[in-house]
Amino acid sequence: MKKKFPLRISRGVFTGSENLFLFVSRNKKVGIGEMCPGLTEGAETVDDGKSQIKKFLEETGPISSSVVENYNKAFEYNLAPCALAALDISLWDLVAKEANMPLYKLFGLNLPNVSTSITLGIMPLDEIEERIFYLRKKGMLKNLKIKLGTPEGIDRDKEMLEKILHFTKSDCHNMRVDANGGWSLYDAHKMLKWLHKKGVEYVEQPLAKGQEEDLKFLFKDRPLPIFVDESCRNSRDILDLSNFVDGINLKLMKCGGLTEALKMVAIARNLNLKTMIGCMGESSVSISAGCAIGALFDYIDLDSHLNLDPDPTSGAELVRGIVTPKNSSGHGAFFVNA
Ligand SMILES: [Mg+2]
Repeated sequence: MKKKFPLRISRGVFTGSENLFLFVSRNKKVGIGEMCPGLTEGAETVDDGKSQIKKFLEETGPISSSVVENYNKAFEYNLAPCALAALDISLWDLVAKEANMPLYKLFGLNLPNVSTSITLGIMPLDEIEERIFYLRKKGMLKNLKIKLGTPEGIDRDKEMLEKILHFTKSDCHNMRVDANGGWSLYDAHKMLKWLHKKGVEYVEQPLAKGQEEDLKFLFKDRPLPIFVDESCRNSRDILDLSNFVDGINLKLMKCGGLTEALKMVAIARNLNLKTMIGCMGESSVSISAGCAIGALFDYIDLDSHLNLDPDPTSGAELVRGIVTPKNSSGHGAFFVNA
């Protein structure tokens, strides 16, 4: 899947991805799952994910009718989180289709009512005006998530944000920043103060994964909320982080799917943390699965499918800025040419 606009973040550039789609059938119903591979998600390629799933199925016997039981078995087996996500999403889709219910209803939820952030990667300054114009035309300026933490340093970060503010004027209501761990503690301290003055709503992953100890210092007199993403993989990470962050950003590919995501939201809420659901380079399949539980989140960043050229799948649609699941059974996503 090729991206319309390459996404540059602090660690590198993503121009597209090769994803694995997983189909699971029972009683003439077919559940669809998706894996977006990644170095930190345990499977670097489609082939790697595929062979991990195959080996898991061969070694642990047939799939159980309980999605949660399958999840627990695959988690114990150490299946790569992104491969586990594909399996878990396909099984939830299947049971919702067997029940003839939209997945969000099967979970006992309403449709999400929080509009998604639209991600703006690190970009050359002379491309900003044109991109803002494009986003305005598409009605996608309401919530922007700006990627900062460029290797060129915080002066370059400031220049980019100033320019975006200049061109968005009053039609961006909520500006968020994700540094993807690109700042030192010293720079993060300075940037949080500066971003607060610029009206930014919150900052995500200011420090690199592995520097969680330093969050204690940053958290003490923070002028705006701090979220973690890379530092928080699954439900087991939340308690340790809970005294030094305001919220967590979970992703299906990172945590291992919907079963784990539900657990994470419950734990985060219990610890008084804000919750966000984000995405990797995913198509409408995984995005539709994510927005099926969208009603549980304070913030939603489910926009990767909107940047595909083309998205081979169709599912959740952008309705007044909200990524909204279809009213058909399962997560509602399907292959366009199937
Ligand atoms: Mg992030």
